[in-house]
Amino acid sequence: MASGLRNYAGRQKLILMMNTRRHTSSVKHIPQRTCVACRKVMPKRELVRLVRIADGSIDVDATGKRAGRGAYLCPAQKCWEIGLKNGRLEHTLRTTLTQGNRDQLIGYGKGLSSGGQ
Ligand SMILES: [Zn+2]
Repeated sequence: MASGLRNYAGRQKLILMMNTRRHTSSVKHIPQRTCVACRKVMPKRELVRLVRIADGSIDVDATGKRAGRGAYLCPAQKCWEIGLKNGRLEHTLRTTLTQGNRDQLIGYGKGLSSGGQ
């Protein structure tokens, strides 16, 4: 009697798990990320990923697949200025930019759309 109840409960749990799995796989999941400057949540592919590389400097990750701690910025000059000049990017990536590295990233930001936001 007691074991019968346990089996019944187990089956119910299994059905629930199957239903959950079917539900999640039918919903198209778009990865969302937050811009560290303006805090806007956007689809990951619409943001530019920045990655902290081994020596502690920050590099633009054009592929979005590089290993390391990453942060995201809108492809807009304004966000790059906020992210780089207020130290938000460094804070998020727990590193300190050298002047040369900062200039390099600001240079990248200048090549982006100034309209952006
Ligand atoms: Zn932004």
